Amino acid sequence: MEDYFKSGEICKKAREYGITLIKEKAKLLDIAEKIENKIMELGGECAFPVDVSLNHIAAHDTPKFNDDRILNKGDVVKLDIGVHVNGKVSDTAITVEVGTNKYERLTKASEEALDNAMKIIKPGVKLREIGSEIQKTIQKYGFSPIINLSGHGVDEYEVHSKPIIPNCDNNDSTELKENMVIAIEPFATDGEGKVTEGKPSGIYELINEKNTRNNNARKILSFIKEKYKTLPFCERWIIKEFGVGAKLSLLLLERKGIIKQFNVLPEIKKGQVSQAERTVIVGKGVIN
Ligand code: MN
Ligand code: MN
Repeated sequence: MEDYFKSGEICKKAREYGITLIKEKAKLLDIAEKIENKIMELGGECAFPVDVSLNHIAAHDTPKFNDDRILNKGDVVKLDIGVHVNGKVSDTAITVEVGTNKYERLTKASEEALDNAMKIIKPGVKLREIGSEIQKTIQKYGFSPIINLSGHGVDEYEVHSKPIIPNCDNNDSTELKENMVIAIEPFATDGEGKVTEGKPSGIYELINEKNTRNNNARKILSFIKEKYKTLPFCERWIIKEFGVGAKLSLLLLERKGIIKQFNVLPEIKKGQVSQAERTVIVGKGVIN
């Protein structure tokens, strides 16, 4: 339990620091790397690459190693940060608009949905009741929850474990139990309320521990197993360690079904998207 609180504390500080970096003309790559470095400075490890997802991209966008994108005035930024301490994961996200407040209500909708969900969380509450609370709150603002994205349990070296915490009433009557560690993450949109699979993100995860005969790929694979275990990692981190040639090895490992790559997740009608996320220990409260 101790490590979860430590992880949560670092996660919270990293989020607060991240907010100060979101400014017009800031490079996405700098934002992600500075937050990742801050996490390590504070004594944590990244549970996944920092995601900086813009506008209609709801999630899973981390800068590439040579990314030259910058923030522009009016961008709606979802900053999603994960920390682990000895494998104990905490997950948090926040939405910040760059220099404007056109989407203030959209951001408020996901924040208030998160707050309202937190208010009812205790042992015995049904998953569908949390989803319903999120849905009602977002709809009250005239927006839609993204129903094919959801909160989740976290586990040792695992960012997404059971249960799924829905962003709508999904009829799941499973009850929360004392000491479950869960991340609640409402997404609100002025679009359709669904995401689809977009471009490859450069974020990967080990899915099959079988080996490969290719020397370079084998070296990288053993690094991945040792350093990230079953947690997501990204091309940028691997290139930092092994040089740009490592891209070929990642491709090979992906083709062999040893690692899988995530895609970025755009809203299906290119609607604007906001997100708010915190991790909570049921019966104990929010940790980040
Ligand atoms: Mn997250
Ligand atoms: Mn999450």
